[in-house]
Order: sequence, then C-alpha cells, then structure tokens
Amino acid sequence: MTRRRWIADTWTEDSATLTGTQAAHLARVLRVRVGQEFDIVANGVARRGVVESADAECVRFRLLEAIASEAALPLTCLLSVFKFDRYEWAIEKLTELGVATILPVLAQRTEKHLAQAAVARVERWRRIAREATQQARRTDVPEIADPVRLENITAPTLGTLQLLLSEVEEERTLWSALSSQNAPAAQIAIGPIGGWTDAELQWFERNQWLPVSLGPRILRAETAAIATASVLAAWLEQHRAASNNHAS
Ligand code: SAH
Repeated sequence: MTRRRWIADTWTEDSATLTGTQAAHLARVLRVRVGQEFDIVANGVARRGVVESADAECVRFRLLEAIASEAALPLTCLLSVFKFDRYEWAIEKLTELGVATILPVLAQRTEKHLAQAAVARVERWRRIAREATQQARRTDVPEIADPVRLENITAPTLGTLQLLLSEVEEERTLWSALSSQNAPAAQIAIGPIGGWTDAELQWFERNQWLPVSLGPRILRAETAAIATASVLAAWLEQHRAASNNHAS
C-alpha cells in the first residue's frame, strides 16, 4: 500500500511535526485522525509515521521504521529562466522525473523583466519542488539554486557528462551522444525562449559542454527540458543497474 508522503517541518529522533499550511491542509481538508499512518520524511529519511495528535496548527507523528527509498537521479538541469507559468510547470515535472538539482540560468535572451523578478521567485519555485516531491513520493527535495549568469557557474565534478541542448546543432543527436558515453552523472542545459546567443554557445564550448540536438523540430524550452530529462533518467538508471550488477 502506498501512503501519502509528507516532509516534516520539525523533528526529533522519534517524532516529527507538520505545521503551517501543511497542518491546516491535513486537519481541515483531509480530516486527519489520531492513529492514521503516513510516510514522513524527517532529516532526509522516509519513515512510517503514526498521528499522535492533530489540530489545524500542528500535526504530531510518532516515527517508526524507515522505508526503502530511491536516491535522486544524479542529474543537474541548467534551466534558463523563461515565462513563469511554464517555468513552474517545468520545475514540477523535472522534480517528478527525479532530477537532483535545478539551476535557474539568467541567459542573455531571458527577458529583462523575468531576469529581474527571478530572484524573488526562488522561494516559490522551492515550494513547488517540495510539493511535487511529496506528490511523487520522493524522499529528497531537489535543490533549486539561486538564479545565476552562465559565467558564474562553476565546473561540475570530474566525469560528469555535460550536454548542451542546442537548437542550432545539426549533426550530433542526443541519442548518438549517449550511445558513445558512460558517466555516473550528467548535466543538461536548456536555452530560453529566444534560444542561446553565439557568445553563450562559445562559453559552453570552452567549458567542455557537448552540443546535442533533439531533432529538426524546435521544441518549447519546457518540452526540451522534460524530454531530455526523461531520456537521461532512463540512461542513468541503466548505467546504475549495470554497475550494481557488476559489483555483486
Ligand atoms: N527561439 C529559438 C528556439 C529556442 S527553443 C528558435 O526559434 O530557433 C528553447 C531551448 O530549447 C533551446 O535553446 C534548446 O536548449 C532547446 N531546444 C528546443 N528545440 C531543440 C532541438 N530541436 N534540439 C535541441 N535543443 C532544443
């Protein structure tokens, strides 16, 4: 049976609480009762939780055994900032797909007013990621970094595959790039609605990113992000399973 999953607001060794909007939702909408069971993530671990007391301000749980949980995909998504409604949708879907980190990029063609407003939006994006985490029954909330400009991004751990999704790449497809590679972790970069500038394409090249194409059709940024994350999810899982088999 799958129980609803909640991420605790506070916890001790054997108890946890949900407060604020989470408590209000549990008490008023779900009419939670003492003795009911949920999955509670506390301190990064998912455990069986039994409701000990509940009102609209605070729901308290006794924490029992840990529940097996999957680690996030070792996948980072550099997601250029674009129109917020679609951006929020992309964050929700990338969270469901298991990405570990989303890095909002202020690209040169990110519209000025969006770039200015992005900093104040991060808290909302983190809330969306947290809700999607619970809904998807993930254990770990993906990290949503503060918005950055490309030139301030630091290089990833050695061995990380870096794929630049480029609408102007004509030869190398995502598929061909992946079939000739093997890496324990990956990063993908998605451009804004106006696409990447030449200067940005050069920055990526200098920093060892591999430009890849998703085919002759131009996808909207959020479609490109989700499509690529899905393929990478399958690819990374395949490598993980293969290396586990090898180890045992
Ligand atoms: N305005 C641009 C398209 C930008 S699409 C134009 O009309 O040419 C936004 C982003 O989605 C791109 O920067 C790229 O990262 C990704 N993308 C969209 N279609 C793609 C494709 N066919 N191959 C690779 N990346 C693609």
